[in-house]
Amino acid sequence: LKDEVGRMERLSLVGQMAASITHEIRNPMAVIRGFIQLLNERSPTEQQSYFHLVLEELDRANSIINDFLSLAQNRIVERESCDLNEVLGELTPLLWADANMRGQTIDMRLSPHMERLLLNDKEIKQLVLNLARNGMEAMNDKGALRIETVNDENSVQLRVVDQGVGIPKEQLERLFEPFYTTKTNGTGLGLALCLSIVERHNAKIEVESKVGEGTAFIVTFCKPGRKCW
Ligand code: ADP
Ligand code: MG
Repeated sequence: LKDEVGRMERLSLVGQMAASITHEIRNPMAVIRGFIQLLNERSPTEQQSYFHLVLEELDRANSIINDFLSLAQNRIVERESCDLNEVLGELTPLLWADANMRGQTIDMRLSPHMERLLLNDKEIKQLVLNLARNGMEAMNDKGALRIETVNDENSVQLRVVDQGVGIPKEQLERLFEPFYTTKTNGTGLGLALCLSIVERHNAKIEVESKVGEGTAFIVTFCKPGRKCW
C-alpha cells in the first residue's frame, strides 16, 4: 500500500508539472499568435518589430521549458548580482506591446538609486510578466499598469499596481494556491509560480486590493547582507 501511495504522489506531481508547463507556454504562444495576426496588416517597418518580439517570445517559451526541466531535476537556480531596473528595462518593449494590444499603457517608475540584488534575471522576468499580465487582465481598456521600484534602507520593493476590478477579501488568501483561478481560461498557476520564485529569492510578496479600484502586488527583496524582517 505504501508503494502505491508513493507512486500516486509521483504521478500527481508529474500531472501538476505538466499543467504548469502548459500554462506558462500558453502565454508566449498567445503573444506569438497575436503578433502573427498583426503582421498581416502592418507595414514592413512595423513588421520588423513584431518579428523581433515573436522571436523573443519563442526563446522565452524555450527557456520556460528548460526552467521547468531544471526544476524537475531539482537543480539549483543560480542568482547573480543584478540591477532590478535593468532587468525591468529589458522587459519594457514586451510589456508595452502587451499593453498596446489591449489599449492599455505602462507607467514605469524606477527608483533613480538602485542597489544591486542577488537575482536570477530569467525568474524575475517571469515573475513580473505574470504579475503584469494579471494586472492587465483585471483592467478594461484605457487602464494604466504601474510598475515601480522603491529603494529602501535595507530592502528594495517592486510594485505592480493596476486599476482593475480588485480582489474581494475572501479570495485574497487563496490567490497563491496552485490551480486557484476565477478565469474561464485560467489555470491558476501564475501566482503559485510567482510565490515559488519569490521564496527562492528569500523575498516576500504582499497584496493590497480594493474592489472596484485596483490591486497592488508588492515584492520586497532584502539587500545582500541586510536584515529586513
Ligand atoms: P490565472 O491568471 O490563470 O487565473 P493566477 O495564479 O495568475 O491564475 O491568478 C489567480 C487568480 O487571482 C486569478 O484568477 C484572479 O482571480 C486573481 N488575481 C490575480 N491577480 C489579480 C489582479 N491583479 N487583479 C484581480 N484579480 C487578480
Ligand atoms: Mg495569471
